[in-house]
Amino acid sequence: NADTAMYSSKDAGRNQLNFFSQEMTACAERRLLLENKLRHAISENLFTIQFQPKWDTCNNRLVGVEALIRWLDDDEGYISPDEFIPLAEDCGLIGTIDDWVCKNACLQIQSLFGSNQPNISLAVNVSPAHVIYKDIYKRVSTILDETGFPAQNLELEITETMIASEVERLYEDLNKIRSLGVEISIDDFGTGYSSLSRLKQLPLNTLKIDRSFVRDIGEDSGDEVIIRTIIDMAHNLNLKVVAEGVETDEQYTFIKQYNCDLVQGYLFSKPVPLNELALMLDSQVADSCRRTGS
Ligand code: C2E
Ligand code: MG
Ligand code: MG
Ligand code: MG
Repeated sequence: NADTAMYSSKDAGRNQLNFFSQEMTACAERRLLLENKLRHAISENLFTIQFQPKWDTCNNRLVGVEALIRWLDDDEGYISPDEFIPLAEDCGLIGTIDDWVCKNACLQIQSLFGSNQPNISLAVNVSPAHVIYKDIYKRVSTILDETGFPAQNLELEITETMIASEVERLYEDLNKIRSLGVEISIDDFGTGYSSLSRLKQLPLNTLKIDRSFVRDIGEDSGDEVIIRTIIDMAHNLNLKVVAEGVETDEQYTFIKQYNCDLVQGYLFSKPVPLNELALMLDSQVADSCRRTGS
């Protein structure tokens, strides 16, 4: 046996190897367990959606929301999207999940506005794997047809890492999606390696500055320079900028000072279920009626 031959004179090495392979087994078992649960959750419709507001920094109005998937498992409790989305990508389930979120988020947001056009935008996250390999244009336009949701109110959030590597393949689909009126934003911006010339080639509307830069405001002056540079660059390219993960007054004051257009983060609101979003929108309407005296 090769293992014994290699480690017979080294007990420490063997123990380490055993430990290592035990860990790998545990990891593989967890994966398998979650994959089975994931298939079950899809077929039984066990996901829900929460909405995290985005606020306009000029007038402090709630102007949009981002749909975020939630999965409450009987045994495990809430499982984070950071854990199951990558798994769903690996086992080819992400397309089904993203389509479900997009369609249901459209229906839910529209339900708040009856037959009127919503006065907020709705952003959904689209997995890179999904964007590249599947016909994203056809799927988005089908969902718009099926739900009647106005294309101008829909926005796709795509992570930067994918933009950097797949720009040529994306170009045509993104242009077709833009021609519907759907907006496109780059999520987690600053963590990938997209060049300026690539950004300029793509039909983009918005950059979302990654939370990791915002987190270090007041602590890391390097990150502050990066934020200011991203905002300036985006404005020069006629793009809007969102700061994500704003948690403190200090962070908010900083990004506002440099004219960041929109803000999202726990300082203003966590992701909330639809009924709570409805209350926030109602109180905003009441507020503006009081202000205008109508
Ligand atoms: P993301 O798109 O960058 O979403 C922002 C994440 O940051 C969300 O985590 C949100 O709850 C969290 N967040 C927002 N404000 C704050 C803050 O002030 N402080 C802190 N600490 N966190 C904040 P969540 O919902 O756990 O989602 C994690 C990631 O999972 C998302 O990152 C997105 O990449 C992915 N994801 C979520 N829903 C979907 C989906 O429907 N489809 C796909 N493909 N990915 C999704
Ligand atoms: Mg996002
Ligand atoms: Mg993000
Ligand atoms: Mg993220």
